[in-house]
Amino acid sequence: MQHVDAISEQEKVQEKFHSETVSVLLAIPLDIPFDYSLPTGTKLATGSIVRVPFRGRIVFGAVWGASEGKVEKKSLKEIDGLVDVPPLKHAIRELVDWAASYNLSKRGAVLKMILSSQSALMPPNKIKIYQSTNTQPDKLTSTREKVLKELSNKKSMTVKEIVEATGVSTSVIKGLVNIGCLQELEQVREPNFLPPNITEDYFSLSPPQLKATESLIRHIHNNIFSVSLLDGVTGSGKTEVYFEVMKPIIALGKQVLILLPEIALSTQWLHRFTERFGTKPAIWHSDISNRVRADTWRAVCNNSVSIVVGARSALWLPFSELGLIIVDEEHDSAYKQEEGVIYHARDMAVARGKKESSPVLLVSATPSLETIKNVDMGKYNRVNLPDRYANAKMPTIDSIDMRQCSMPSNRWLAPKLIEEIRATLNIGEQAALFLNRRGYAPLTLCRACGHRLQCTNCSAWLVEHRDNMTLNCHHCGFSMPKIKICPSCNVEGKLAPCGPGVERIAEEVLSFFPDINLDIATSDTMTGPKEAEKLIKRIESGESDVIVGTQIISKGYHFPMLTLIGIVDADLGLSGGDLRAAEQTYQLLHQVSGRAGRAERKGRVILQTYMPDHPVIKALAKGNRDNFLKQEAEARSKNSLPPYGRLAALIFSGTNNQTVSKAARDLVIIAKKSTSSADHSKIIVLGPAPAPLTYLRGKYRYRVLVKAREDILLQPHLKKWIESLRPISKVRIQIDVDPRSFL
Ligand code: ADP
Ligand code: ZN
Repeated sequence: MQHVDAISEQEKVQEKFHSETVSVLLAIPLDIPFDYSLPTGTKLATGSIVRVPFRGRIVFGAVWGASEGKVEKKSLKEIDGLVDVPPLKHAIRELVDWAASYNLSKRGAVLKMILSSQSALMPPNKIKIYQSTNTQPDKLTSTREKVLKELSNKKSMTVKEIVEATGVSTSVIKGLVNIGCLQELEQVREPNFLPPNITEDYFSLSPPQLKATESLIRHIHNNIFSVSLLDGVTGSGKTEVYFEVMKPIIALGKQVLILLPEIALSTQWLHRFTERFGTKPAIWHSDISNRVRADTWRAVCNNSVSIVVGARSALWLPFSELGLIIVDEEHDSAYKQEEGVIYHARDMAVARGKKESSPVLLVSATPSLETIKNVDMGKYNRVNLPDRYANAKMPTIDSIDMRQCSMPSNRWLAPKLIEEIRATLNIGEQAALFLNRRGYAPLTLCRACGHRLQCTNCSAWLVEHRDNMTLNCHHCGFSMPKIKICPSCNVEGKLAPCGPGVERIAEEVLSFFPDINLDIATSDTMTGPKEAEKLIKRIESGESDVIVGTQIISKGYHFPMLTLIGIVDADLGLSGGDLRAAEQTYQLLHQVSGRAGRAERKGRVILQTYMPDHPVIKALAKGNRDNFLKQEAEARSKNSLPPYGRLAALIFSGTNNQTVSKAARDLVIIAKKSTSSADHSKIIVLGPAPAPLTYLRGKYRYRVLVKAREDILLQPHLKKWIESLRPISKVRIQIDVDPRSFL
């Protein structure tokens, strides 16, 4: 942290300067900026990041403009200090204002996502380094010689580096310092982000890939905003194409941001990147260490790192020279943040591209209807890759009509699927079974009294996990050891698991093939990068024969020996009232299917369904994506549902059921009164209704859904209604613009 008079570096960079007083937006969940005074003689640029006193503590903020001047300078608090990082650019400040007004969140909460590394805003840590003084010790032991030799070639090294290079103990180094042969210095640690090698051609692209690449590069003009969709089937080499598209941007000294939905588990992707560019990319997600976080944040705003790959939160990094944003798997629901500031990272990425005049590239084999609509309207440019790379063919997809299979109780795999698994294993290939349910059984029922084991904090069933003999709530994280006695009727031995989770399917597979190597792939087994890497290696090396997994196995993986995919319950996502149920089920099952037969060996997908005539199942089986999308678009358009209409959800929650429900009802009364008769036909307020998850983490929940025509801007209405609502203590209102979850 520098003091405020040190602004010389800043003068070079910024637009408007302020002296005497400034308005500062604080990085805390408040919407309005506050005025502060500056020490006499100091000037600060708009966007400068500062520390200011606020309600008895020191908080970070950014200069948002001139103060309103309502309060005299002498009555204002003085800022505490200026942070030694470049000021936030105009485009980023605009993004904060825009994102807050679009998502109806506080501007300070959005700013907090931008200032996402506290350590980066602190003075950088110093480290001790050692240099040779070029004096020989009286007693030259072999260990001392090693160290001096090592340092004679290099300018300076840390203790850790010396120990790693020579294998000596730290006492040898200390000894050499004591006798004056080494000198100890303190230095600011300079993170080292190596530039990617963009000169070598790693692959020769196939003619369709080359065509796609050239078309995208042509479209991505320097400093012009545009959105392109790279629409290519699974295994067509989309990743290779966008790697190629990045090169000219990097060559211009600009930065590229790549968003990936599950970056922490994407070890295959990271290996490919490293092989291709000769260095690792900078990585950004919630699990990186504070130090890496701080280094990356600073490097991003100094343009000393050119490629960052990250989860949705990377979108808010303060790039100084953003030249391209890539959103891989743009359809993925992981891009929606459901807590804190509720936003959709793909949509914000497009907004950011616009503010920064940077092109945006969306990538998917199953683009969202929102994106397809924008393509159809001519707003986005589309580039296709219709075939798999090399000779790999798309898998064949067959469905099994489960109504025709009289399945014995507690069995879920049709005899035909078992036979397919057997045939696959016999020729040494791999099979994966997909079921989007973690654990052993989603419900435990007492056969004596009918009681269902439920979470005490949520209106949700407890899910049995046999790997650690627990009962768990997947909503709040509650966990307890498995029990034998029913808590309702006290009868022992009658609690029975109902329905399957992946563990139970694994048990069923093993009952047929007891000698195989089976792996379960879920967020319980792939808890972090290390675990994910281990499991992926087992699958890649062919050690694992059968994989049973949740949606985690749908994420972009490439396993050459995996040729059979069995979808245990293709209907699972289709029930329920979610407006995107069909679209999302299609995307998920298509992506899972896309893991089969990606190399020379042909893939096969088997869908188990009780609804073989459902449009989603038929579209999957026929491989007719565009027809399905067309039907889906027509249905949505007819009902004015997104993307052909607007939705916003208001979620009321609190510990007292009555007050929560009353607040929700009051809001609906206000909303209905305030929408004038002219607006009535354009804005429909639905509810309040108890949320499907009526009780969550000890709080009652009610939902109000607001539906509007596409040409209506909902935000001002929502804002007005909420402001007119008398604040009710202990009731929280969350606003979800463009909701994707309806729970
Ligand atoms: P997608 O992202 O479209 O699913 P990938 O980019 O993962 O496809 O490509 C599928 C596989 O084919 C990967 O293993 C990739 O390395 C390989 N591949 C794609 N294009 C080429 C190419 N031009 N030369 C060599 N291998 C390629
Ligand atoms: Zn719970």
